[in-house]
Amino acid sequence: MKYLKFPILLLLGTFLFITSCSDNNDDSDDSDDSSDGSSSSGGVTPLSAFDEFNPDAVTISFDGDDITIESNGLPNHTSPYWAPTEPLYIEPVVALALTPGGIGSRGLTVTVPAEPEIAASSTATGLGAIGISVTGVPIFNDLEGDNRPIEEVIAETFDYAGAHNGPSGYHYHIESSDVPENTTLSHDDEKLIGILADGFLLYGRREMDNSYPADLDVSGGHYGETQHSDGEKFYHYHIINEFYFDDVIALFAVDLQGTPNTIM
Ligand SMILES: [Zn+2]
Ligand SMILES: [Zn+2]
Repeated sequence: MKYLKFPILLLLGTFLFITSCSDNNDDSDDSDDSSDGSSSSGGVTPLSAFDEFNPDAVTISFDGDDITIESNGLPNHTSPYWAPTEPLYIEPVVALALTPGGIGSRGLTVTVPAEPEIAASSTATGLGAIGISVTGVPIFNDLEGDNRPIEEVIAETFDYAGAHNGPSGYHYHIESSDVPENTTLSHDDEKLIGILADGFLLYGRREMDNSYPADLDVSGGHYGETQHSDGEKFYHYHIINEFYFDDVIALFAVDLQGTPNTIM
């Protein structure tokens, strides 16, 4: 062991020399980057928004600068994806075909800053949960597990909630349908949809005055008030009022403007 120490130290010394050299080269670039496009505050997320979350599924913890959202993934609305023995099971209303499996309990957790920031550059969302909805069900983007966009044959598997089941469980892709069975979920209104991985809230297509926001950025976001913010402006997303195809409206098929936190 003693005998090996010298070459290891020598290697370590060489490594440090190389990295410090390259660090010096990068330093000027780094400082340029941060002065060109530093992040900016999106404002304080209004805490009353978290009252909208389904307390049977979602636990919210406030810890100073951070908010942790934990969910068991079990929605508080009816679906054909519930087991037929469950009280919230219904026959399909809009789904023409169901994906295999059904609604089951699982653990989803994300910790986000209480004052999330707009990042210097936007970030594409990936497969899996990109946010947690007010019902506790995870929000997915517009891609299926094999990275193909939602298409008609996939949309036929969505229940009225805009959800279907996948290998990781029951999840939402699209805005819910305007059917009598839908008594809770946002459809062409101002309701809160949930919180995305970058800590920004996602609302329905409309503002609280029932208008469609006209100043949205490419991600459907803007600074403004909501029914939760008590007159304060903060950055939030809306479902973009555009058909993905036919009457399908994706919940979030764009890039995140903040820095995504891992949803575990
Ligand atoms: Zn899916
Ligand atoms: Zn708004």
